Amino acid sequence: MKFEQYNISTEIKDSLKEMGFKKPTDIQFKAIPSILNGDDVMAIAQTGTGKTAAFAIPILHRLQQQDRRHRKAPYEVKCLVMVPTRELAIQIAEVFQGIAQYTDLRILALVGGVDQGPQIKMLEKGVDVLIATPGRMFDQINQGHIDLSHTQTLVLDEADHMLDLGFIRDIRDVIKHIPREHQTLFFSATLNKDIKDLAYSVVNNPIRIQISPKDPVSKNVSHAVAYVEMDDKRFFLERLIKEFPESKILVFVRTKVRAERVMAAMTRIGIKSITMHGGKEQDDRLDVMAAFKSGDVKVLITTDVNARGIDIPNVDYVVNYDLPDVAENYVHRVGRTGRGVQKGQAVSFCSTEEKPMLETIQKFLGKNITEMTINKDDYRETISFSEDIPNDNWQLLLDQHNKEMEELEKKVKKRAAATAKKKAKKK
Ligand code: AMP
Repeated sequence: MKFEQYNISTEIKDSLKEMGFKKPTDIQFKAIPSILNGDDVMAIAQTGTGKTAAFAIPILHRLQQQDRRHRKAPYEVKCLVMVPTRELAIQIAEVFQGIAQYTDLRILALVGGVDQGPQIKMLEKGVDVLIATPGRMFDQINQGHIDLSHTQTLVLDEADHMLDLGFIRDIRDVIKHIPREHQTLFFSATLNKDIKDLAYSVVNNPIRIQISPKDPVSKNVSHAVAYVEMDDKRFFLERLIKEFPESKILVFVRTKVRAERVMAAMTRIGIKSITMHGGKEQDDRLDVMAAFKSGDVKVLITTDVNARGIDIPNVDYVVNYDLPDVAENYVHRVGRTGRGVQKGQAVSFCSTEEKPMLETIQKFLGKNITEMTINKDDYRETISFSEDIPNDNWQLLLDQHNKEMEELEKKVKKRAAATAKKKAKKK
């Protein structure tokens, strides 16, 4: 089924067309009808599955239907989307704004770290969709600039991350400001007992949706691990960047100090890169994201502050320069590439001391990550690799890896077919 056939307004259909969204993704196919229907929804879906549009499309359609009949009162908020981070708030607001571009609906991202004057002016006129992090939102509620007494829909996005960050009380507090009768849409990338407890305390007889629970890494991402010692990692990164000069590369490191160090190492050899981590001011963060999104700078070195939720279009490679401390973050990191319908590649550099972490990650994934074999000569050559030695070894390694995966898949299919044949014969 295509979006054209959906029961949504022509304005929304036109914007979806412009954004290149023709057919719904899995989560959109499953969630949109229920949300349009006014049901509560509890969905387990990773980022990259199209989950933002899965709630934005039906919410905007419903608001648009009402907007023709009702005027907004000052400070009124019709739909509240609560998210754990500022970056995610801005990104979600962009999706809402894109889909609502031909409507009169008013969308606002309310985040801390920026001047509150313009935000208050917008709030004063009333907004249809407010996307907010808890801190700035409660500031404004306390100052009387947000009226949630007519809010119809509450979206809790990345609820698992909100729990990790200790926002559970904020979630419960906000519900006290909203009318008893409201629609709740609950989204989480992972599911455990705490998430379930929270979910069932806020949703009412929900429609449950779970997207690809078995393999948490998107099918569009081809990911591999290369054994590289700590001190050699920068040479391998240099080589990868130089062999893919046109590619957008997102590099994950463990700490902000390391992010700055890796950037300094890249600068020394003439590679332009930028960093992103918790130590950056909000204005700097926005500039960094804008430079990377537009492609002005092609290499972004970041800590896990960026691992979840952030949608940066066209990231070609994710490099786990350091393995993540938390296994789950592996999924969030590699999920930065292969978004929507695109293909992506991810490579992890694993040193001897990181091998136990690799095992934990593999346990979490429920399977081994394919090893990208680097023979001794390749390894040595990479360390002595310099700008004037033309080399396409990374491409060869990646091609080889992809070929191995294809062959493996063929073998598995063949074996399954043979087993099925045998079973049929026995009968
Ligand atoms: P999300 O999971 O919401 O972060 O979305 C991941 C990416 O998929 C974003 O870059 C969206 O623009 C893209 N996307 C979402 N829905 C669709 C669709 N129906 N068709 C094509 N791309 C989509």
